[in-house]
Amino acid sequence: SDLFQPGRMNSQGWDLKIERIQAKFDESRTAFKETKFTATPLLCSDFIGEKPLDVISPYDANDIVGSVIPASLKDVETALDGAIPWSEASAEERAKILIHAADLYEKNHGLFFAVLTREAGKTALDAVGEVREAVDFLRYYANQIQHLQNKEARGIYVCVSPWNFPLAIFTGQVCAALAAGNGVIAKPAEQTPLLAFLAVQLLHEAGVPRSVLQFVPGEGATVGSALVSAPNINGVCFTGSTQTAMSINRSLAKYANPSANLIAETGGINAMIVDSTALPEQAIRDIVNASFQSAGQRCSALRLLYLQEDIAENFIKMLFGAMDELEIGDPWSVETDIGPVITNKAKIDIQCHIDLAKKDGRLLKQLKTPSQGHFVSPSVIKVNGIRDLQVEIFGPVLHIATFKASQIDQIVDDVNASGYGLTFGLHTRINDRVKQISNKIEVGNFYVNRNQIGAAVGSQPFGGEKLSGTGPKAGGPQYVPRLTVDHADKQAA
Ligand code: NAP
Repeated sequence: SDLFQPGRMNSQGWDLKIERIQAKFDESRTAFKETKFTATPLLCSDFIGEKPLDVISPYDANDIVGSVIPASLKDVETALDGAIPWSEASAEERAKILIHAADLYEKNHGLFFAVLTREAGKTALDAVGEVREAVDFLRYYANQIQHLQNKEARGIYVCVSPWNFPLAIFTGQVCAALAAGNGVIAKPAEQTPLLAFLAVQLLHEAGVPRSVLQFVPGEGATVGSALVSAPNINGVCFTGSTQTAMSINRSLAKYANPSANLIAETGGINAMIVDSTALPEQAIRDIVNASFQSAGQRCSALRLLYLQEDIAENFIKMLFGAMDELEIGDPWSVETDIGPVITNKAKIDIQCHIDLAKKDGRLLKQLKTPSQGHFVSPSVIKVNGIRDLQVEIFGPVLHIATFKASQIDQIVDDVNASGYGLTFGLHTRINDRVKQISNKIEVGNFYVNRNQIGAAVGSQPFGGEKLSGTGPKAGGPQYVPRLTVDHADKQAA
């Protein structure tokens, strides 16, 4: 595997604590602070389109970031009829184009920083991380395809992505399928069509042919559903909720050809154990990041903290102290730690969960909420364990349960029994405990003595098991091969 390929590097970071770098960061994005963008379908031929819709910032209702012309169902047909695999280019040529696209993404960092904040409410730190991850996906998958022998494209892939990583996940899916030589029809999330449109434009500019990469913005229930029900597609790369993944799986089983492949990366109810040997300052820093960064809108985010009873009282006091230091507000300000949630509906749903806990006397803390924007402030709710959480709450809400040392095995069993298996965290200084839990816990990514969000393309692949995903991890060596078939098998067929 090229997981530790010599010379492979992740894209350059931006240390915004350094004044000079912060000034450069600001300068790069300022030109796009008031630009109005328009996203349209990008098809192999002309589109018809539906009525344009405004794209409004989740922080500021007066900031109309632009508009989107959603694809009509006729446009979906055009895309499906005209889709072709990227077969005229060799693996080396495809890789060269995708690496060129990575350079274009880096060159356009200011544009992406601005739109990530305006369209998706990303803080400066999150916007930087997201552009880097998108660039890393392009370079990693492009490099990887050159080392895969005897592999051929499956055919036509539909890529369906979520709003919470509107650039990185969108790019990762699309470029993996392209690297493998597939034709791609990409549908972005409804809330974030502009970033995806800008990304596709750069991919086209880099040299990906238009009939090989088509873009169809629109609703999941109409456009998305029509794409994944098409009989001529050969696979779907999906990231989003478990529920939608199940619906896509059913569509593929019903309509697509039997060899059509699904990669689904979905949600989770992610837990962490902090035992009495953990270093409190380190654990608290990691808990605050993992629960509240990105306003809790990460699939990997910590939802449920199991805290050893003996240390709980003091630990919770310190945790609340750390939470009080969080800056909540305008995501454009580099000082801001927590930005808005994506929509007013998300805000209402999450706040409803918090209000219910308040009514039952289980709300331990909620920070003050800014008056402007779709904000839910970081909150902490007391629960007995994972059985009290039926669904993923996709926002800045941490649940806490306490435990006695004798209950650790039971906690791991309960977490496994939830059916989800995305991330799990452990803070301890007992080595045997690390071994014992890592042998038993059924998750894709297990984090020890660090926060449980984040992954690094190429060295720390990311993905879940069971209800949280179908297998090959994004940014790892198994992802692109899953989008190909063995040359000999194809010949035989
Ligand atoms: P979602 O509601 O499942 O939507 C994801 C995508 O699917 C969107 O583009 C959506 O379109 C589309 N869609 C909806 N119904 C569809 C259908 N019937 N057929 C085809 N496409 C359909 O998820 P989300 O709210 O955007 O994202 C949050 C979820 O993603 C969370 O559960 C989170 O844990 C998960 N996630 C997982 C990972 C991971 O790596 N495991 C990473 C990020 C996010 P519309 O936008 O029009 O609804």
